[in-house]
Amino acid sequence: MVLMDPEASCSACRATFDEWAALELVARIESTEVERLIRGWSANLCIEVRACRWCGKGITRKCEWVSP
Ligand SMILES: [Zn+2]
Repeated sequence: MVLMDPEASCSACRATFDEWAALELVARIESTEVERLIRGWSANLCIEVRACRWCGKGITRKCEWVSP
């Protein structure tokens, strides 16, 4: 299991955040959904979109999928 870097940076305003999990979650795309679009996608990864605290733009990144 690869641990994700907890840091994130905004591509729009270049702000960096120490804690990805502290940002507001906008959307989460489950691994099963991504698998349909990207062949070979790992089943334990999902895609999360969180809002940049400075400019409000969405930041997208791969995250470990934790099943509920
Ligand atoms: Zn930003």
